[in-house]
Amino acid sequence: VTQSYLDRIDVVDKKVGAYITVATESALATARSVDEKRNKGEVLSPFAGIPIGIKDNMCTEGLRTTCASKMLDNFIPPFDATIINKIKENDMIILGKLNMDEFAMGSSTENSAYHVTKNPWHLDYVPGGSSGGSAAAVAAELAPFTLGSDTGGSIRQPAHYCGVVGMKPTYGRVSRYGLIAFASSLDQIGPLTRDVSDAALALNLICGHDRMDSSSAFIDTPDFTTYLDQDIKGMRIALPREFMGEGIAEDVKASILSAVKVLENMGAVVDEVHMEMTEYALPSYYLISSAEASSNLARFDGIKYGHQAGDYDTLVELYKQSRDEGFGAEVKRRIMLGTYALSSGYYDAYYKKAQQVRTLIKNQFDLLFAEYDLVLTPTGPTTAFKIGAKINNPIEMYLNDICTVPINIAGLPAISLNSGFDRMGLPIGLQLIGKGFDEGTIIKVAHAYE
Ligand code: GLN
Repeated sequence: VTQSYLDRIDVVDKKVGAYITVATESALATARSVDEKRNKGEVLSPFAGIPIGIKDNMCTEGLRTTCASKMLDNFIPPFDATIINKIKENDMIILGKLNMDEFAMGSSTENSAYHVTKNPWHLDYVPGGSSGGSAAAVAAELAPFTLGSDTGGSIRQPAHYCGVVGMKPTYGRVSRYGLIAFASSLDQIGPLTRDVSDAALALNLICGHDRMDSSSAFIDTPDFTTYLDQDIKGMRIALPREFMGEGIAEDVKASILSAVKVLENMGAVVDEVHMEMTEYALPSYYLISSAEASSNLARFDGIKYGHQAGDYDTLVELYKQSRDEGFGAEVKRRIMLGTYALSSGYYDAYYKKAQQVRTLIKNQFDLLFAEYDLVLTPTGPTTAFKIGAKINNPIEMYLNDICTVPINIAGLPAISLNSGFDRMGLPIGLQLIGKGFDEGTIIKVAHAYE
C-alpha cells in the first residue's frame, strides 16, 4: 500500500504539488517493520500500516518541518508532536509533509514559500488554504487521509474547495503540543478524509488529553464510530440567515438549500434563525489571530533555530535581517497588524474590543445551542477561485473566511463535507457546527447526509 501511494505521488504530485517533502525512505522502512511485526503474529493497532500525510507545521523528529517558510527551510525537529507520537505508536506510515500557506496564514496555499498547490478538480484553481496540500492530497488520492490545522477555517475551507471531508474538533480536544503555533487560542488539529466514517476513525486516533498542552481538555474520547449509521429523525438544525445572504454565490446557496431538503426528508427539523453578530467575527478574528501571531512568531530571531542572516554588524541587525529574509509578505503583514493592535494606546480600541466581540459571538452560539443540536451554513461564500485572482488583495482573501472564523472564535467543532458542485464542476462544501465537545452529533448528521 505504501509503495503504491509513493508511486502515485511520484507521478501525480508533479501536477498537483501537494507535498513539500516526501519521506520515501522512512515510509518504506516503517512499512517493512510493520510487515515484519505482522508476520511474527504481533497484535497490531487497526491503524497499523495505513499511510498518512501531515501538514508541514507539525513537528516530526528527524523529518524536515518548514511551515512552508524560508525561515524554517532547514529545520529538522528534535522531537515529535504529540499527534505524531500517536501516529507512530499506532504503526502508521508517514508519507511526507504537506504544503500550506506560510505559518498557516492564508486561504489559497499561494503564500507557501515553495510552490502553489493546485486544485485537483481544476489545475488552474487554488485548493484553498492554509491546509491546501492536506486537502489536495486526499482529493488526488496521494494519501488516504491527512492532518491539517484550523485557526480560522484552514481545514474546512480547503476541504470545501477540494470536495473532501474536513473536521475541526472542539478547541482543547486534540493536543497542540508540537504544532507550530499561529494563534494559540484558536489553533486546532483535525483530519481531512474522503468520507465521514474515515473522519470518525481519525478522531478516535487523534483526540485525547495531553499533559504537554496546557489548553488540552480533561475529557474522555468517545468511540466516534458509534455515531455512524444513526437515525436523525427529530434532530433540530439552525440555518442562520446571515450566512446565506450578501456575498454568498448563487450556486453555493442552491446547494445548501438542497442539502436542507435532504435533511428534512430524513426527519430533521431545519429552522431559519438570526445571528446578528456574524459580521463582526471576521474583523475580530483578524485582530486576535494577528495579535497572537505577532507574539508567537517573536521566537524566530535567527539565533535559536531557523534562518540566520549572514551579513550583520549588531545583534539588532541580526534579528531584523534574519526576520526580513526569512518571513514572506503575508507573515510580515500579520506581525505588523498584530503588533499595532497590541500597542499601548491601541490595545483597548482593537485587541480588547475584539475579545469582547468574541465573547458576544460565543454567547450567540450558546443561545442557539440551547434550542438546536447543530448549526448549518455554507463552508465558504464561493467555490475555489483561480490561482492569482486574489493574491494581491488581502481584504478579498480574508473575506473567504467569513463562514469559518466564527467557529474558531467560539472554540466549537465543525465539519465541512461535499454538498454538490457549481456550474464549473468545482466542489461545494456544507458546514455543520456542533456544541462544544459534541463532535458525535456532527458525525451522526454528516454521515446520514453523506
Ligand atoms: N485563512 C485564515 C487566515 O489566513 C485561516 C487560517 C487558518 O485557519 N490557519 O488566517
